[in-house]
Amino acid sequence: MKIVMKFGGTSVADIEKIKNVANIIAKQSKTADVAVVVSAMGKTTNALTALAHQITDKPNLRELDALLSTGENTSVALLALALNSIGVPAKSFNAMQLGIITNDNFGDAEIMHINTWGIPYEVIPVITGFQGITEHGDITTLGREGSDTSAVAIAAALCADYCDIYTDVDGVYTADPNVVKDAKKLDFISYDDMLKMANNGAKVLHPHSVSTAQKYNIPIRVRGTFTPNDLGTLVAASKQR
Ligand code: ASP
Ligand code: MG
Repeated sequence: MKIVMKFGGTSVADIEKIKNVANIIAKQSKTADVAVVVSAMGKTTNALTALAHQITDKPNLRELDALLSTGENTSVALLALALNSIGVPAKSFNAMQLGIITNDNFGDAEIMHINTWGIPYEVIPVITGFQGITEHGDITTLGREGSDTSAVAIAAALCADYCDIYTDVDGVYTADPNVVKDAKKLDFISYDDMLKMANNGAKVLHPHSVSTAQKYNIPIRVRGTFTPNDLGTLVAASKQR
């Protein structure tokens, strides 16, 4: 069994949370081959964007991507350190080290190719979400919330059985549970229905990650970082696999 585990910004917002994530990965790695994809810590990407806007209202998009991509470099290194500190061999990789090749549409780049030969199997790879690199070596980003798409693309490249997207809710709900009191958690939702929800503004998954999963038939499980024993919501073509 091969699983790509993706953790969003709220799941790695501080060192305690990064340690919690390391424990979830350590446990999963006992029963599956895992690769990990991480977002920047907390609101780092917002803070970096605000810094650029203190200089100019219209930052150059190449430089903005160079700046925003740094958030993910921090979180992968810290998570690899946290895994190593509990005896789990892990190594961080950014898009340049791995070869996550995108087009040059800065700020909204699309992944063209991932060099899977760069992904080690003897240690757990902890890979930056959100980032890419053009054929000419420029750093790109996939657009806000893009690390869901990174995770699914990496899962497709690795022919993973599941792409587990860990977040601060424990699955996909019929409505936003923070707003609608009797919103119900779904055990299963089809790619088509999930895509509709994402396009209608459901924040739980980025629409592009859902369409990428559908294209490569990668089952996504939306799972809670703070309820790791729950299998969350399966997003797939059909319930039976
Ligand atoms: N760090 C990026 C963002 O905040 C990417 C992501 O979290 O998916 O948009
Ligand atoms: Mg997200």
